[in-house]
Amino acid sequence: SVVAERILMRRSMQMRSKQQDWQESAEGQKMQECRKSLPAYKERDALLSVISENQVVVVSGETGCGKTTQLPQYILESAIENTQGAACSIICTQPRRISAMAVAERVAAERGEKIGESVGYKVRLEGMRGRDTRLLFCTTGILLRRLLVDRNLKGVTHVIVDEIHERGMNEDFLLIVLKDLLPRRPELRLILMSATLNAELFSSYFGGAPMIHIPGFTYPVRSLFLENILEMTGYRLTPYNQIDNYGQDKMWKMQKQGLRKRKTQIASSVEDALMAANFKEYGHHTRESLSCWNPDSIGFNLIERVLCHICRNERPGAVLVFMTGWDDINSLKDQLQAHPLLGDPSRVLLLACHGSMASTEQKLIFDKPEDGVRKIVLATNMAETSITINDVVFVVDCGKAKETSYDALNNTPCLLPTWISKASVRQRKGRAGRVQPGECYHLYPRCVHDAFADYQLPELLRTPLQSLCLQIKSLQLGSISDFLSKALQPPELLSVQNAVEYLKIIGALDENENLTVLGRNLSMLPVEPKLGKMLILGAIFGCLDPVMTIVAGLSVRDPFLAPFDKKDLADSAKAQFSARDFSDHLALLRAYEGWKDAESHRSGYEYCWKNFLSAQTLKAIDSLKNQFSYLLKDIGLVDNMESCNTSSHDEHLIRAIVCAGLFPGVCSVVNKEKSISLKTMEDGGVLMYSNSVNAQEPKIPYPWLVFNEKVKVNSVFLRDSTGVSDSVVLLFGGNISRGGVDGHLKMLDGYLEFFMKPDLAATYLTLKKELDELVHK
Ligand code: ADP
Ligand code: MG
Repeated sequence: SVVAERILMRRSMQMRSKQQDWQESAEGQKMQECRKSLPAYKERDALLSVISENQVVVVSGETGCGKTTQLPQYILESAIENTQGAACSIICTQPRRISAMAVAERVAAERGEKIGESVGYKVRLEGMRGRDTRLLFCTTGILLRRLLVDRNLKGVTHVIVDEIHERGMNEDFLLIVLKDLLPRRPELRLILMSATLNAELFSSYFGGAPMIHIPGFTYPVRSLFLENILEMTGYRLTPYNQIDNYGQDKMWKMQKQGLRKRKTQIASSVEDALMAANFKEYGHHTRESLSCWNPDSIGFNLIERVLCHICRNERPGAVLVFMTGWDDINSLKDQLQAHPLLGDPSRVLLLACHGSMASTEQKLIFDKPEDGVRKIVLATNMAETSITINDVVFVVDCGKAKETSYDALNNTPCLLPTWISKASVRQRKGRAGRVQPGECYHLYPRCVHDAFADYQLPELLRTPLQSLCLQIKSLQLGSISDFLSKALQPPELLSVQNAVEYLKIIGALDENENLTVLGRNLSMLPVEPKLGKMLILGAIFGCLDPVMTIVAGLSVRDPFLAPFDKKDLADSAKAQFSARDFSDHLALLRAYEGWKDAESHRSGYEYCWKNFLSAQTLKAIDSLKNQFSYLLKDIGLVDNMESCNTSSHDEHLIRAIVCAGLFPGVCSVVNKEKSISLKTMEDGGVLMYSNSVNAQEPKIPYPWLVFNEKVKVNSVFLRDSTGVSDSVVLLFGGNISRGGVDGHLKMLDGYLEFFMKPDLAATYLTLKKELDELVHK
């Protein structure tokens, strides 16, 4: 150990002289100047001393004040200065992979290093770190995964949990685990960082931990609400009864196209309309704006107008547009690119910013464009706090974000664009005042803003808890409900029970809530349990390659595009991939394989263009598949890479595996004269999303559809479904090992009885007997 200590010392000395060299170099000095100008620098000494004297510290400060990039760096630098560099190990978690990567890159640059030297990152299935990495930025999920194999975080000196105000599920979960761990590791330091000022909540959760606030400076930002914007951008507010024939005609057409799904009262002003619609939907009833009115989304044309207005009339400065999701961003980007001004690259640099995009594209967002070119960044709410784009002067805020919520009573997740909270509005607005006074265009009236909630509900209270429960079990944290009751804000008991029951049905937990072998394997796979189950079965049945494609597709996002105005064309393009086999999952598989083939002939883009596919998504699927094969090899589920690539493409087998993964996501199909009636156990009648290949079929020759997801919008809609036969449901639905065949039958019985198919149970027994005989021969 004397030798080990000496080596450690030598390394620490090396680190110190390297750091000193950089700090004395001309470039290093320049960087130092820049860093010293951040508000966090004034608090450097105070932060370091409070952290060394307390096990838990809560740090808050305006976005951009230097929490994420500076604070972990201060700890590292001071350790290195005190020749403790080699012994120090800092982990800083980020809620999103893109921020973990971007921040690591930035901090490495500030230290005059390449990424992977003293600073590294690790995100799901990807990372850059080396032997000397002492500061690791990772996603919260990665740290949770590490806790799986290293319960006491051996060797780690500091854990920094960033962006805790977002109250993501993983962050809330991590806090319970860490709270439990702290007494076992008295020398471990925990630092919680948050942008907005609800620091007291976290401080009291950790028994009154000290709080430090970094005072920040932002320039004033002027708020413009819809009423001001309409006026500025040349909209004319017309009472409905004064809309001319042209306008009424257009409105009628939209109604016919189903754009107005709900009956909305037409009112004489924006405010009245909003009030009447209970804030759920809004429109501005002018002739011009009719075409941009889509109650569930936001008006693209309005955004286009606002952007034109800024480009034509406003001073230089980047524009940040907050959208609800990736689909919206892509469609808007397409629309803007066709615009004579906004689509002109010599005048406008149009960028999209999203969690799963490539890092080369990501860098452009931070760069300053050439003179005379205006940078416009379309982003989701991730740009609210975790990413700071310095030169933003104008913010366009659509007022909504896609939020998952969870209906525990019906056990149904919902994904809807919902109004954001006042805290989010403040954050979004604040992004405009970093370099000079700015402007924020809120695309909703002031009266709507006043009705926003103060804070968003924590994710733990609005999502299904299956993956989380699996993790609790694999971390050996005891009873699931006891553990979750220790959360900052504990979830409802019913949600917990639903999740546990689900895990029992799929065979991840046994009757006594103990992890099964399947459950243990599932907890090692960084995908939802149902997708993990497909991967495992794919490996067992030797059809891993197609199954990986389907799983990757389901966990990235749908590669089938559905442009607003060309929906029919897109739908029929998708239908071609279905080859009438009543499966969105097989259609996805075919589309991907067609693309791979086209890629090998260098015509991938053409293929995507023709078939309404997103090349970017297909590429993401491709790289995720690669990562899956490494992972499965690591875990030992496959022996070598070849077995991932050369595998069966038997459609019946794939269908069965999809069923095994998605069960109990199953609905019964009854073909009626003019329609198809679908029913699930929990919801009764359900509908199919219009972009499912099954939605276009007049009849479905399968008694069951298994589905990936059901979402409650107005009714319950099924997304991505595959038709399966009785025997597939019998043999692959649920968990045969749960109480043997009888137990399985008992479980299925409930379903079969509900769907009035008791005779199937008898078939099952016969089938079982035949199989038994076959085996014993
Ligand atoms: P906080 O975490 O408090 O919101 P950050 O530490 O993320 O603040 O950012 C501090 C400063 O560093 C900001 O002014 C930001 O613009 C700058 N910064 C962060 N990342 C980069 C980058 N990749 N390139 C240039 N500047 C950056
Ligand atoms: Mg930050």
